[in-house]
Amino acid sequence: MSHAHRNARIPGFHRKSPQERLRIVAEFAGLDSATTDRLADTGGLDLDLADRLVENVVGSMNIPLGIATNMKVDGEDLLIPMATEESSVVAAVCNAARQCYDAGGFTTSMSGTLMIAQIQAIDVADPHAARLRVLDRRDDIKALCDGCDPVLLKFGGGFRDVEVRVIDSLGGPMLVTHLIVDTRDAMGANAVNTMAETLAPHIAQWTGGRVYLRILSNLADRRLARAHAVWPLDQIGGAEVRDGIISAYHFAAADPYRAATHNKGIMNGISAVVLATGNDTRAVEAGAHAYAARQGHYGSLTRFETTKDGALSGSIELPMAVGLIGGATKVHPTAQASLKILGVTSAERLARIIAAVGLAQNFSALKALATTGIQKGHMALHAQNIAMMAGAVGEEIERVARILVERGTVRQDVAQAVLQELRGA
Ligand code: NAD
Repeated sequence: MSHAHRNARIPGFHRKSPQERLRIVAEFAGLDSATTDRLADTGGLDLDLADRLVENVVGSMNIPLGIATNMKVDGEDLLIPMATEESSVVAAVCNAARQCYDAGGFTTSMSGTLMIAQIQAIDVADPHAARLRVLDRRDDIKALCDGCDPVLLKFGGGFRDVEVRVIDSLGGPMLVTHLIVDTRDAMGANAVNTMAETLAPHIAQWTGGRVYLRILSNLADRRLARAHAVWPLDQIGGAEVRDGIISAYHFAAADPYRAATHNKGIMNGISAVVLATGNDTRAVEAGAHAYAARQGHYGSLTRFETTKDGALSGSIELPMAVGLIGGATKVHPTAQASLKILGVTSAERLARIIAAVGLAQNFSALKALATTGIQKGHMALHAQNIAMMAGAVGEEIERVARILVERGTVRQDVAQAVLQELRGA
């Protein structure tokens, strides 16, 4: 079928109801009614609510929610809700947590709940003197910022500090003002963006320059979550496994090609909890990767070393701008359920747990990579995926998958042949 006649220029699309939009999309793309019915079924998220969260809604994308067991964080046993479409991610956390459970699980800490907003000023004649003029206005800046958000103030947050940097840019020196704001149980993007916008005209006046950008930095390095765990040798399978994991960490620390994959694995765990709690995965991911490159080259977010007793010690530190308030956290029913399952009552506690999950994820990935390889653990679920792609339904999925794994060839063509054999039999 030719799509040459299709027209994506649809004025007023945003004013239509989700149902009307879906009808237009179905016609555009030639969707059958079974497909549109599936799209219109938004599961645990009301269509009305979805329509209020983002623009031009026609349905929802459902991702499995799995629960990681065995986690002990700061002495408290936890069940961890994880929203992810990737197999082995939930299992990896369960396995890592089991192997350090008896040794005490994870201990965590946090550097604070401070967010940074940036105000960019250009064409400042005397940037270094202007920097001092802005710093001299600290009291005014505090009053202006705190005036923006009395609710945040009531909860103990608000302006904490101002920093001014002169940076070299392609267009000459730039004066960049940082507002440091405690956003407590909010991720804080809207809170600090409002403050930056309110302050901007004053910055322009004090510096004599022109102000352009006024927005938070996702490199939230005043909001670092940290987690640590010790894995005894008898739990992980001996000194060779420990040394393999440490060597894998050394590889990531030395090589950005490896570090990207190493940190991606960490984010498998982190983003799954961030998403399950309705928080902003992209904000956390941007912060993590920027932090991983803070020393001028991209490296590992985790560290592994040997304790004086010969056990494996792992630690992680990364920015963790997550909240219990704002964004989708408060309104998405699954996010609320996830927070309830976690039993968290502060954004700080949530951030610390998420860091522990990232460390657990990394431990399991490195252990698998340094020993049997990653594919063995992946295969059972991957084989089911392949079986479904080959057309298996119901009980066939499990049977085809098992045969694929037994034969050691998890491929779609083999799955099709196996399926035919089963159906023929
Ligand atoms: P928000 O503005 O919806 O809620 C925060 C506000 O809630 C605070 O300003 C405060 O007034 C109030 N509040 C009530 N109780 C509080 C408590 N106990 N602690 C703190 N504040 C409390 O949400 P937000 O956290 O400012 O913004 C988060 C959203 O911003 C996310 O959806 C994110 O995706 C989005 N966002 C992100 C970026 C970015 O990361 N670059 C940029 C823009 C927007």
